[in-house]
Amino acid sequence: MEKSLIIIGGGLAGLAAGCYGRMNGYRTSIFEMHNIAGGVCTGWKRKGYTIDGSMNTLMGTRPGTGFYRFWEELGAAQQWEICNHDQYILLENEEGKIFTMYVNADLLEREMMEFAPEDEEVIRECCKIIRKCKNVEMPVDKPQELYNVLDYIKMLKMLPKMMPVQKWIGISSAEYNRRFKNPFMRKVFGIHPEAEMLEMPAIAIFSQLAGMKQKDGGYVIGGALALISYIQQRYLDLGGELNLKTKVEKILVENDKAVGVRLSDGTEHRGDIVISAADGHATIYDMLEGRYINDKIRSYYEDLPLREPLVYIGLGINRKFDEVPSTTEGLHFPLKEPIVVAGKEFNTLGVQIFNFDPTMAPEGKTVIRVYFITDYDYWENLYQEPERYKAEKERIADEVVARLDDRFPALADQVEMRDVSTPMTWVRYTGNWRGAYEGWMMTPRTMMHQWSKTLPGLDNFYMAGQWVVIGSMPTAVMSGRHTIQMICKKDKKKFVTSTP
Ligand SMILES: Cc1cc2nc3c(=O)[nH]c(=O)nc-3n(C[C@H](O)[C@H](O)[C@H](O)COP(=O)(O)OP(=O)(O)OC[C@H]3O[C@@H](n4cnc5c(N)ncnc54)[C@H](O)[C@@H]3O)c2cc1C
Repeated sequence: MEKSLIIIGGGLAGLAAGCYGRMNGYRTSIFEMHNIAGGVCTGWKRKGYTIDGSMNTLMGTRPGTGFYRFWEELGAAQQWEICNHDQYILLENEEGKIFTMYVNADLLEREMMEFAPEDEEVIRECCKIIRKCKNVEMPVDKPQELYNVLDYIKMLKMLPKMMPVQKWIGISSAEYNRRFKNPFMRKVFGIHPEAEMLEMPAIAIFSQLAGMKQKDGGYVIGGALALISYIQQRYLDLGGELNLKTKVEKILVENDKAVGVRLSDGTEHRGDIVISAADGHATIYDMLEGRYINDKIRSYYEDLPLREPLVYIGLGINRKFDEVPSTTEGLHFPLKEPIVVAGKEFNTLGVQIFNFDPTMAPEGKTVIRVYFITDYDYWENLYQEPERYKAEKERIADEVVARLDDRFPALADQVEMRDVSTPMTWVRYTGNWRGAYEGWMMTPRTMMHQWSKTLPGLDNFYMAGQWVVIGSMPTAVMSGRHTIQMICKKDKKKFVTSTP
């Protein structure tokens, strides 16, 4: 008789745990509270336009990489069409001159030298690091919990390749930017020039550029919705059970063993093993009532930085934007008058223009996206007053359209669709704590952090997803796979995979 797995959450991690569970002979039931699977890896359709909620760059789009293998096993790589960008971001300065962040280090070096010849030494250094990053691929095939001596020896053998980049892991983008003398250059490695993402280690951005140069880090045409549809289909084809609109309220525990879940409608479902691929805070503090925790795990939720939530504006525009080169992170330009969001002034606007994905808008039209990193408490309070909450969303959309109209004349009259999400939207649809759409913030402190996938004193229970790894689509999938590897090991079964 097959052992049964109950999986809470049908995001990427939950679906991946379900697929690998099925490949290894477990009966699997996913309980997902929303009416579609995908979690934050999603998109939404409005008036003929699709607003993507997650897809910028996807690691593992290059055949032969560790993550590519996962996407193949999950049936996505066989179906997807990938768009590889040569340019990461366009940054316009006060004089209207555009700095292009090329993914090719040689072109980038030339571009940086043109903007800031006085920074030659730092420019040469950072482009050298970017070139070196291409040699480093972290092993993803196995969870560290299952490493044996041979695995550690393999890691040691990687050290010479890692050494040149290792020392940069501890340097945030903000710190790296301060090495430049040129004030414009001091903003370039922050993704969003004014954002807290500047806390992200500079090496994360350098290695992303290096990966993209090798065509690893592409965009899946159709966005997050397309990616999820491939994986959901794979799960169903493998014979998995997917229950939508089923919110788990409690994890049932008997004699310190997880034995099932109770849903918000009061029904109970029993299984041999429970995996929570839902929000980490809700899992530990609500579903398990804080009974299985220690100081270390408590300190994650008290001390570690969270990914700051977003106000996210999607606009459908009756315009083609052929003049704007296609990029991953769009065009960022300075504003004559700042926009204030949740009490914070933004002096630049970043607009992501999906002119490279014809599936996102009707023929001849384009969907564009603007976001602001914002304060969670502000939105949580405002949400208590529905009229003011709605009005504030409208005001922000009005201001964004007006500023875009200054930069792209006549745009205001071409707007056919506008949609504003706030951190409360993410909480409502995905349950992610404080709207932290990727879980923990990636900083020099968290980048190499290892979170436990089990809880102290609780048997037959595992956690997967972005609260036990640094959040991203491939790492979410990896955590689901790793969890099943750990379960197989405990059940003394050889972990197997298949490709459709
Ligand atoms: C704006 C944005 C941009 C991003 N850009 C990128 C990118 O370019 N590249 C990249 O790799 N990653 C990106 N990511 C991150 C990536 O999408 C996520 O890290 C990943 O999808 C997280 O998957 P997950 O399964 O761990 O979590 P989630 O997607 O949060 O899944 C958890 C699931 O659990 C469900 N759930 C929660 N509570 C319950 C409950 N009580 N009962 C039942 N179900 C429950 C939720 O509804 C959800 O479906 C981005 C994310 C966002 C939002």
